[in-house]
Amino acid sequence: MPLAGQSEVRDEGGLLVGWPQVEEELCTGCRACFERCPKGVYEWDEAGSLPVVARPMECVPGCEQCVLHCSAGAISLQQEEAPAAAVDG
Ligand code: SF4
Ligand code: SF4
Repeated sequence: MPLAGQSEVRDEGGLLVGWPQVEEELCTGCRACFERCPKGVYEWDEAGSLPVVARPMECVPGCEQCVLHCSAGAISLQQEEAPAAAVDG
């Protein structure tokens, strides 16, 4: 399945941006999100054995690889449309 690039979701209203949120109580520390993310959104907290959403703005809307591979259901993706001004500027 091809990954959606941000250029593909750009429209007249602006740029769709997305980022993941991890529910730490559900996370089993399996590292799948960290290892599967093609954009390096996550870093790994060795001490806490948890993913850290270190680069949320690198997340590609529509990708969902981390969600698909999280067997604990600990990840939810947030999406919103950035103002057009923020895209043009
Ligand atoms: S949706 Fe894709 S790009 Fe975004 S954090 Fe998950 S794996 Fe990374
Ligand atoms: S894939 Fe899910 S359970 Fe595994 S480390 Fe990431 S958030 Fe935790």
